[in-house]
Amino acid sequence: MDYDVIVIGGGPAGATFSRIAAQGGMNVLIVDKRKELGVPVRCGEGLGVGEVIRQDLDLPRACYSTPIDGAKVIAPNGKSIVWANDDTKGWVLERKIFDKWLCELAVDKGAHVKTYTRALEILKDGNGKPAGVKVSHGGRDPYEIRAPLIVSAEGMESLMARQMGFKTVHSLYDVDTCYQYEMKPYNHENLIELYFGNSMAPRGYVWIFPKCDKKANVGIGIGGNVVNGKKNGGIDGAAPKPLLDEFIKNNEQLKDASTLLDFGGVISVGAPLNEFVKDSCMVIGTAAKQVDPIHGGGIGLAMETGVIAAKVAIKAHEKKDYSKDSLYEYEKIWRSEPGKICSQRLLLRKVLEKVSDDDLNHIFNQISQPDLQQIMDGNFAPSVAKVLVGRPQLLGILSALRS
Ligand SMILES: Cc1cc2nc3c(=O)[nH]c(=O)nc-3n(C[C@H](O)[C@H](O)[C@H](O)COP(=O)(O)OP(=O)(O)OC[C@H]3O[C@@H](n4cnc5c(N)ncnc54)[C@H](O)[C@@H]3O)c2cc1C
Repeated sequence: MDYDVIVIGGGPAGATFSRIAAQGGMNVLIVDKRKELGVPVRCGEGLGVGEVIRQDLDLPRACYSTPIDGAKVIAPNGKSIVWANDDTKGWVLERKIFDKWLCELAVDKGAHVKTYTRALEILKDGNGKPAGVKVSHGGRDPYEIRAPLIVSAEGMESLMARQMGFKTVHSLYDVDTCYQYEMKPYNHENLIELYFGNSMAPRGYVWIFPKCDKKANVGIGIGGNVVNGKKNGGIDGAAPKPLLDEFIKNNEQLKDASTLLDFGGVISVGAPLNEFVKDSCMVIGTAAKQVDPIHGGGIGLAMETGVIAAKVAIKAHEKKDYSKDSLYEYEKIWRSEPGKICSQRLLLRKVLEKVSDDDLNHIFNQISQPDLQQIMDGNFAPSVAKVLVGRPQLLGILSALRS
């Protein structure tokens, strides 16, 4: 064997896994198809402080564009609620620097990284278990690398995970399709702004994430199924870029601002994979669909998962037992900790997508900042009770949140 573990993908999940695994004595290789780690950026770049603090990381100044205090959530009629407390602090990152820094931390602990190196094929042993990866540097001369454990941290693409037998294909209903510009000038408070409204962003929202020097990431995510056109159950003409352009045209500050960068992307907002481990392999981060279904955030979860999975991999390495049973502890911990929050958020997403703009305006009138905190903590009942007082006809839709 060339390494103890090959990690496919050097994003937040792969880099974090590799740092912890290398620190625990494993000989780790990360391969990433990108020429430059973190580039091109396909992200709103928002990250709460949680995982950085829990992992005791000292985030260098260059990794973020601006610190943020919290969020301003805006209803279709313009009413806003500011949600800012110690738990909502965070940053709008510079991911092209942040992702590389996370990989550097792994290298500091002894991991090896190969950029511009695409995993092409999973190699199997005589029993059909993953035993290595065929890779190519820059599209040339494929070669084989062997390891007893393969980790897919490939993000949305997850082609290698599929070769290992994981069901990573998404339905349109379970993704948000996104478009984002980096824009300037935009004067902001240190708050991320989230705009809701079905006509503006069907089954999604528009975000404005502040950056330094009067810049901002201005993006939209809408349900993948609504893009499909009416005859397929969606909305005719609904597509993220024109909807975002319409929002910008109607925004006093942004309508004359310049665009410095634009890109489209897709993010998982459904349930996580039905399994994260098989013999000799693990799937982590967005490749395992471990993304918050409410806001599509996956950086913090990817980092958290990297730690959980690596600790289990270290134990498997010490026992020289990479069987599914041995690796399963990662899945068990994930589903009982971050997974619990994700399933509450998925339930909330599914309920909110049935609510009209008028109902949303009513909800925003009834709730305040502490309610928002409770909702995000998964304690829906007190807010549902407040909302139902003025609009009992919402009982049918909101009842799923009462138990
Ligand atoms: C438009 C948009 C906005 C978003 N905004 C936010 C946000 O503001 N905050 C937030 O928390 N999350 C956001 N996300 C989600 C976030 O970007 C991801 O959840 C996060 O990057 C997941 O980290 P990861 O390490 O699992 O995967 P990734 O960061 O996607 O990393 C995967 C890596 O694997 C590599 N790779 C893939 N296939 C191969 C292969 N075959 N061989 C070698 N390398 C391979 C890729 O090059 C990549 O570097 C957004 C997503 C989108 C699309």
